[in-house]
Amino acid sequence: MNIVLLGAPGAGKGTQGQKLVEDYGIAHISTGDLLRAAVKAQSELGKQAKAFMDAGQLAPDQLVIDLVKERLAQPDAQKGFMLDGFPRNIAQAETLDGELKDMGVELDAALLVDVPFDVIVNRLSSRRTCRSCGYTAGPTVTECPRCGGEMYQRDDDKPETINKRLQTYQDQTQPLIDYYESHGILKAVDGNRAVDEVYVDVKKVLNV
Ligand code: AMP
Repeated sequence: MNIVLLGAPGAGKGTQGQKLVEDYGIAHISTGDLLRAAVKAQSELGKQAKAFMDAGQLAPDQLVIDLVKERLAQPDAQKGFMLDGFPRNIAQAETLDGELKDMGVELDAALLVDVPFDVIVNRLSSRRTCRSCGYTAGPTVTECPRCGGEMYQRDDDKPETINKRLQTYQDQTQPLIDYYESHGILKAVDGNRAVDEVYVDVKKVLNV
């Protein structure tokens, strides 16, 4: 199973993705997580990406594409993968198509987790994220229920950056919905429900 996850920041892509990864053993490739790890490690790549991330803008395509290529080549991704947060624009989607073709691999589905914008704004501003494993929860959770790590508010989940990120999503990422629809692999679920209800639908549309 090779999947691309689509949806606005805070739509619950990561949460649904994590469940699929746990149940089906495919590799979870989140470009946001890879970039945050690079920032934390203060690598050259992390330094380059940080300013864009803090501003709610997309990091340069080539930088993210190199990260994804490297990750797709790792052994665990050979069993199947889920790309979370990538592609984020048409140029990245076209590059991905070219890379996968070279690798002799096909995308099975682009899974859209659909949530209205007003719900997204509320979710993002109250979201807390685990510093160690990336698990997300509401504002009252201070210790990660999965690994015991510290929960914090991502800089880019603060109100001033949220609007910018949603604007970036509308301008650059939303066109991917039509892109994958025209490729005949778009599968959409209503993400404005309880996590487990959404997941039932996810499995149904993916036929797993
Ligand atoms: P996310 O955790 O997916 O919301 O990503 C956090 C931030 O990382 C985004 O706001 C972007 O600045 C950057 N980022 C993540 N994925 C990509 C991508 N595919 N292309 C460019 N920038 C990205």
